[in-house]
Amino acid sequence: MAGKTRNVRTGVRTLAVSAVAVVIAVALSGCMVERELTRDAMNRKLRALNRSVVPVIESPGAMCYDTSAPMPVAFVCDECGQSTEVDGWLFESIQTIKASVAEMNDEGFDVTLDLREFCPRCSKDVLDASAGLASGDPQVVFGIRFAGDDAYHYARSNNPSDYTIVGAFLKGDRTWTDAYGGVSALKKEYQVIEKMTGLSMD
Ligand SMILES: [Zn+2]
Repeated sequence: MAGKTRNVRTGVRTLAVSAVAVVIAVALSGCMVERELTRDAMNRKLRALNRSVVPVIESPGAMCYDTSAPMPVAFVCDECGQSTEVDGWLFESIQTIKASVAEMNDEGFDVTLDLREFCPRCSKDVLDASAGLASGDPQVVFGIRFAGDDAYHYARSNNPSDYTIVGAFLKGDRTWTDAYGGVSALKKEYQVIEKMTGLSMD
C-alpha cells in the first residue's frame, strides 16, 4: 500500500515537471522557430491527418439549397479591366474562393489565384502560360508554393469546397464546413488536398 502511494506521488511529480518542460518548449518555439511550412512538413501533416480518427461530428448542418435561377453577373478582370458576363452561381463561387485564398494567405502560406481564364482578353495569355492546365471551360487557377519550393503547384477548380478543404487542412483542422453549414471529416477529402496542393500521402 505504501509503495503504491509513493508511485502515485512520483507520477504526479513527473507530470508536473513535463508540463513545465512543455511550456518552456512552446515558449522557445514561439520566439525562435517559425511554423514549418515546407512541403516535407506539410506532407507529414497530410499523413498524420490520414492516420487520425474521424472526429465525432456534433451537428451536421441542414441542407438548404438556394433554388433561385442564376442571373448573369458582370465580371471585371483584375488584370486588364475588361468586363465580361459570367453565370451568377459561378460569380458567387469565385467570391467564396477569393475569401478562402485570402485566409490561406493570412495563415502565412504562399498562394496565388489566377482568374484570367474568365477574361476574353487575358485568357489567350493563360492558355500559353499555364503549361497545358487550361482546357475546356474557364476555371480558377490556384497556385501554392511551400517554403523552400522553387515552383508553384497549380490546380484548376471552380468548386469552392476544394478551397475550403485546403484552407481547413492548412490551418490544421480535422473537419471542414461546407457552404450549407454541413460539417464533415477532413481526412475523407485527402484526394482534393493532394490535387490542389501537390502534397502526397505516399
Ligand atoms: Zn483581362
